Amino acid sequence: RPLARLRGLRKNYHLGEVQVPALRGIDLDITAGGFTVIAGPSGSGKSTLLHVLGCIDRPDAGQVEIDGITPRELNDDQLSAFRARRIGFVFQNFNLLPVLNALENVEYPMRLLERDGTRRRQRARELLAAVGLQGMETRRPNQLSGGQRQRVAIARALANAPGLVLADEPTANLDRQTGADIIALMRRIQRETGASFVFSSHDPALIQAADVLVRIADGQIVPPLTPPAAPSVP
Ligand code: ADP
Ligand code: ADP
Repeated sequence: RPLARLRGLRKNYHLGEVQVPALRGIDLDITAGGFTVIAGPSGSGKSTLLHVLGCIDRPDAGQVEIDGITPRELNDDQLSAFRARRIGFVFQNFNLLPVLNALENVEYPMRLLERDGTRRRQRARELLAAVGLQGMETRRPNQLSGGQRQRVAIARALANAPGLVLADEPTANLDRQTGADIIALMRRIQRETGASFVFSSHDPALIQAADVLVRIADGQIVPPLTPPAAPSVP
């Protein structure tokens, strides 16, 4: 069965009196494992879809089911716990806490689930090493490059070993080479952990790396092109 099942998702943003439709009836199954890339032009609803899938936003209508769990049926505390355990999110602007260093940023989401500070620090060190940031543990975000911040954000998303890792335009703010390095890094982590990775992107390099490509336009899934049917022979 799919890892996640989305049915009839709708979401509008409210700008004063004006309703801005962002999702207009999304039906989508997310395959377990591999890279799923949600591709579409700017403003097509990719971020909104990722935020709903990541249980950061609730839809106005429709059903979300992840790993057999229906987030709508959870209260806020249960939803936070579910997200912490099951879902890692890499935000487009990284959302690192500026007063914490790299190690503390990675450790932060573990505080809910791991009481032993020594174990947390050890895992955070291992994760930073795994993303190639050994020796950078005590640097704060403003002392790191864009690519290094992205690596910290990826390490943080992996902190609680989630089965679902979501990344919003993970290469958008990176130069081409750094973007390629980040894609290779995520590919390696995906293989090693078996987790399901879902990205939003319009970066051709990331679209090329997709195992499953989903196209979205104007808040709706664009059906895949099917080859023309062979002429039927009477
Ligand atoms: P994408 O990630 O593909 O660029 P978004 O999901 O960010 O698309 O946006 C989908 C639509 O919703 C766009 O029309 C965008 O302008 C609108 N939108 C997104 N966030 C907000 C917001 N906070 N307030 C109002 N409108 C928004
Ligand atoms: P975008 O993808 O549209 O550029 P972000 O991914 O940076 O924007 O953030 C989108 C929204 O998610 C923001 O409205 C922000 O308030 C919210 N958000 C950011 N970090 C968290 C978090 N750790 N937990 C819950 N919501 C968050």
